[in-house]
Amino acid sequence: MSSSEFSIIEEFFTSKSDVGLCPVMGVGDDCAIVDVPADKQLAISTDTLVEGVHFLPNSDPELLGCKVLAVNLSDLAAMGATPAWASLAITLPSVDKAWLARFSKGFFDLARRHSLQLIGGDTTRGHLSITINIMGLLPKHRRLTRSGSNLGDGIYVSGTIGNAGLGLKKALSGSMDTHDIDLLSYLKPSPKVELGQILLGMASSCIDISDGLSADLNHILKASEVGATIWHEKLPLSNSVKQYMQELGDDVWPYSTGDDYELCFTLPETVSEEMLEKLQPFHVSKIGVIEQQSGLRIKMNGREVVTLNKGFDHFNVR
Ligand code: ADP
Ligand code: MG
Repeated sequence: MSSSEFSIIEEFFTSKSDVGLCPVMGVGDDCAIVDVPADKQLAISTDTLVEGVHFLPNSDPELLGCKVLAVNLSDLAAMGATPAWASLAITLPSVDKAWLARFSKGFFDLARRHSLQLIGGDTTRGHLSITINIMGLLPKHRRLTRSGSNLGDGIYVSGTIGNAGLGLKKALSGSMDTHDIDLLSYLKPSPKVELGQILLGMASSCIDISDGLSADLNHILKASEVGATIWHEKLPLSNSVKQYMQELGDDVWPYSTGDDYELCFTLPETVSEEMLEKLQPFHVSKIGVIEQQSGLRIKMNGREVVTLNKGFDHFNVR
């Protein structure tokens, strides 16, 4: 490693905080070492963001540092895992200290909020690309998966759908209004980590919405070998998204837009009122039901209108 590479790591990627589970060895040697508590299991996930594919060229570095961690935290949320550690592989076109300082701030601000420790990584030169390998803890033999939904289960989503997709449209047209809720959902998604932990032991299946509701719900349906109907009128939509759909003349637009990072999950019919109350702070909506007939059907005004199996496509943004 060159001295400049070492000083970048020292200055920008070495956690000064001691919140969360400290590793046995963190940044600085050839490997990090962690202790996994005896009653826990590790949940591990990796996500890469590439400039020009997953984020726009010249993106704000602080928002980017936050977003790259948020999308990885969202995968832990979908399994009900508690964030513990991450490694960060970053490829940079050049060393721009002002950029690195803001990227690092965005990353560590969110990491601290979730008591996550950065324990290692890799720093290289090339086209801007960021990969995080994230690790969380689950109580032994307890997890949320895509494969557990059963006939009659209700289908739920948190928050509202389509805002990030609309935010991407706004970002592409040059909007910089960071108070705009659509733009904010796209640039600064908030991973539903606490909701995932509450759903552990309650939900029969769960997934995070990264590629669009229809694509991600279809993953649950395939893994669980079931089908589903969504009641279109129950889909939680902001006024901005409703208005955009009207302009487009496309009722099913929000089903295929990505980047919302909300959770989609199923609950058994027998779920108690008490359990449902615990979900209220997360603005959860029941949007449909799991059925035997395979496929994903959308009902509008009680009539089946369309079958969906498509999601967000990075190369085909509408
Ligand atoms: P090696 O050459 O042995 O792979 P590196 O020079 O890549 O080691 O990294 C030195 C140390 O710095 C390692 O502990 C590595 O995990 C850590 N590291 C490198 N890049 C980053 C980064 N972007 N964020 C956090 N830690 C990093
Ligand atoms: Mg290395």
